[in-house]
Amino acid sequence: MRVRRLKQMLLFGPYVVFLITVIICVILFVLIMRENDRMDALEEEIGHITTNQNSLIEKVSSVSSSVDELGSAVGAISRELSLIDIGTYEGKADASARTAWPKKVYLTFDDGPSPNTGKILDILDEYGVKGNFFCVGTESEELRKMYKRIVDEGHVLCMHSYSHKYNEIYSSVDAFTKDLDRIYSLQYEVTGVKPSIYRFPGGSSNSVSRIPMEQFIKVLEDRGITYYDWNVVAGDATNPMLPAEQIIENSLCDLNEYEEAMILFHDLYNKTSTVEALPEIIEAIQASGIPIVPIDETTMPIRHYTRTN
Ligand SMILES: [Zn+2]
Repeated sequence: MRVRRLKQMLLFGPYVVFLITVIICVILFVLIMRENDRMDALEEEIGHITTNQNSLIEKVSSVSSSVDELGSAVGAISRELSLIDIGTYEGKADASARTAWPKKVYLTFDDGPSPNTGKILDILDEYGVKGNFFCVGTESEELRKMYKRIVDEGHVLCMHSYSHKYNEIYSSVDAFTKDLDRIYSLQYEVTGVKPSIYRFPGGSSNSVSRIPMEQFIKVLEDRGITYYDWNVVAGDATNPMLPAEQIIENSLCDLNEYEEAMILFHDLYNKTSTVEALPEIIEAIQASGIPIVPIDETTMPIRHYTRTN
C-alpha cells in the first residue's frame, strides 16, 4: 500500500510541481501586470503634474511679462508727467518773462448806443485813444447819430445784432441772417461805411443758442465778416451799479494774462459807473506804456468758439 502511494507520488509529483509552478507564474504575471498598470497610472499622474507645472511656469512668465509691461507703462507715464511738469515750468517761466505783455489793449463797448456813448467818446478823445463800439439797432434818431460820431472820430463801429434778443436771433439761421442784414444796413446807411466786425450777443460760446454756433459763424464768414469775443471783463454786465473801483480792478488785474487784451465794457444808459471808471483805467494802461488801439486786420482772433471745419 505504502509502495503504491510512493509510486503514485513519484508519478504525479512532477505534474504537481509543474502545476504549482504554473500557478505561481500566473499569480506573478497577474501581479506584475497590476504593478505595470499602477506604474502607467503613476506616469500619467506625473505627466499631468508636469503639464500643470509647465502651464504654471507659463502663467508666471506671462504675469512677469505683464509686470514688465506695467513697469514700462509706468515709466512712460512718469516720463509724460515729467514732460508736463517741464511744460508747466516753462509755461510759468514764459509767463514771468512776459513783462512786455500785453502788447496791445482794446477797449470794447457793447450794447450801445446809449445816453452814455457821448460821454465815453469824450473821455476817449481826452486821452487820445480809439475804442471799439459793438452797437445794436435803435429806433431813436438821436442815438443813431452816435454811429456816425463813432466813425467820424476814428473809432471802430462794429455790429452786435439789431435786436440783441437771444431767443429771436438764435432761433434759426434765417432769423440770425435777417437780424444781421438789418444792423448791417442801418450802420452802413448812417455812416456810409460797410461794417465788417461782429460780436455775438452773449459771445460765440453762449449757452443760449440751441443751434450750433458754427452755423451762424458760417453766415458771417460767407459775408467776410470777422467776429470777436473778449478776454478781460470789466464786470459791469451783471450788476447795473457795480462800483467804479471794482470795474477798475476787474479791468486791470487780468491784463498781463494776454498778449493782446480785449476788455469788455457795456455802454448802456444805467452803466454810469463804467463811464466813471474809464479815465482811471486808461491812465493806468497808458502809464504802463501799453498802447490802446482800435481793432484792425492785425488783431489776434480773440474768440471763445472757433468753427472747426
Ligand atoms: Zn450785448
